[in-house]
Amino acid sequence: MNVLDSSLVENLLFEQGFEITGDRNSADIIIYNTCSVRAHAEQKVFSSLGKDAKRKASLARENSPGTIMVGVIGCMAQRLGQKLKNRYKVIDFICAPGRLHQLPEIIRSASKLPGAVYLDPPRTRSALPGDNGSIELLDSNRKPCGSRHAYLRIMRGCDRFCGYCIVPFVRGPERSRKPASIIQEARKLVDAGCDYITLLGQTVNSYHSSYQGKNILFADLLYILAGITGLRRLDFITSHPAGFNQDILTAMKDLDSVCPYIHCPPQSGSDRILKAMNRGYTRSEYDALVDSARRIVPEVTLAGDFIVGFPGESERDHEMSIDLIRQSGFKNSFIFKYSPRPGTQAAKKYADNVPEEVKKMRNNELLAVQKEVGLECHRRCVGRRFEVYVEGPSPRCNKQENPPTPDLTQMRGRTRGNHIVLFYSSENIADQYVDVEITGASDLGLVGKQVSHSGPSG
Ligand code: SAH
Ligand code: SF4
Repeated sequence: MNVLDSSLVENLLFEQGFEITGDRNSADIIIYNTCSVRAHAEQKVFSSLGKDAKRKASLARENSPGTIMVGVIGCMAQRLGQKLKNRYKVIDFICAPGRLHQLPEIIRSASKLPGAVYLDPPRTRSALPGDNGSIELLDSNRKPCGSRHAYLRIMRGCDRFCGYCIVPFVRGPERSRKPASIIQEARKLVDAGCDYITLLGQTVNSYHSSYQGKNILFADLLYILAGITGLRRLDFITSHPAGFNQDILTAMKDLDSVCPYIHCPPQSGSDRILKAMNRGYTRSEYDALVDSARRIVPEVTLAGDFIVGFPGESERDHEMSIDLIRQSGFKNSFIFKYSPRPGTQAAKKYADNVPEEVKKMRNNELLAVQKEVGLECHRRCVGRRFEVYVEGPSPRCNKQENPPTPDLTQMRGRTRGNHIVLFYSSENIADQYVDVEITGASDLGLVGKQVSHSGPSG
């Protein structure tokens, strides 16, 4: 979600005459798009703000003609608001996630009157009347960026209130965008050459709206979007296990453009912990979802998130999470150590009573099991041929052994099942589709040999 917000903000500022630079030392304005999900993400921003304060002070001491302007946007802006501004005087403006469409004016007014704090309304249990209009503004006014792959937000906020999670407080109530506006944005992207769209939402499968007099649920939206001519791949993140119904699986099976990939975080394999987390499903319901997914969409790949060390998590609960990874055969899992977030139910009700060393140990244990399971999942792909969307040169390129011949570059791409594929190419073929024959597997992904450019319909 933050990657999309950052690119929409860049897009908006560029259209308004700002120039984007990746070099912070030459920037006049530094903007932090922030995440509050874990304390660690916030600490990194605090430390950078401290450095900015020193730089701004030294520019002032040297009587330098230029100064820097510093802005904080996103979830930390909403969570800490004025408190953040008071603690870091270096900040010139603060802007919450729901007001990013106003950023050009906010920057201009902050250059005259620094210290502006623009927040979303405090969290209420329901959406505010008329709110649906403003949630569209940043997204629906975007200019396509020329890439074949794009993110498309279909909803904002979350109403699930998982005990540990800050998102419902900083991203506000769950609000689904109107189908007409989503379709229009998807068409605009496809007309500009994009043929791979990833739908985004905190819980995409709870999407609900109405269109042409009918109720529209997530499966219906998939059918509608898959009807857009020229759309080759459609996938979505993140799903919530509660309410991931058979209609969605049937749509995935029926629709050629919808990718057979589901990122559906279980968080824990233990009923006791799932209940304390307020996740709204049991272990056996999660297992049943995995079974149906594999039965209805035989090529499906699954990925998960887990939290280790949630308050009260025992060794037995932890073993249930290990068991869940083994049983579900996840391609990959993101594993996080529990981080108490102020204001959440878990932080209010429970002491953070699993010691840090135990959290670390459980984190490593889950990672080790996921490595085994991931390797097994990837080994089954060896010898097969996949259509791969090439994201770009492999970021791990420099760490790999030398290419077979010096003129080759290692590229990284994704199959329709979201498997990462590394292969060598004589040209930089970023943003294209190629067919790759898989020759090897690791816990993280696949390696292979490019066999051809892929045809237009994949
Ligand atoms: N909306 C998505 C993910 C939201 S945050 C969902 O419901 O799945 C992404 C991940 O961060 C979560 O899946 C969870 O595993 C992790 N996370 C969220 N809050 C956390 C916390 N307080 N401590 C540790 N991990 C957390
Ligand atoms: Fe957070 Fe739960 Fe909502 Fe996901 S579903 S964003 S984990 S509250």
